[in-house]
Amino acid sequence: MNAGKPSPQSPIPFYRCAGPNCGTLKGSTDRWWLMWTSFGELNRPVLYLCPWDEEVAQREGTLHVCGELCAQRLQSQFMGNVRDNQTRRAGG
Ligand SMILES: [Zn+2]
Repeated sequence: MNAGKPSPQSPIPFYRCAGPNCGTLKGSTDRWWLMWTSFGELNRPVLYLCPWDEEVAQREGTLHVCGELCAQRLQSQFMGNVRDNQTRRAGG
């Protein structure tokens, strides 16, 4: 409608924090973290955590994390899942 000044915003993909009950949107200057899980070389579930990197952020399966608290929550979730799986496999 308003044919004003062109928006200076470039089409940067926006990211939302993966933390439980968070959902914060990432600002361009926020220093976020990235987490992902992989079975890697050890054939065990491994949790990765690294500082924000645009390239890593766009990889499939990467979790975008707004801060330490959400990272801790996700770590806790991950550990819970691993334990659940182990319990299930061991039959209790
Ligand atoms: Zn968060």
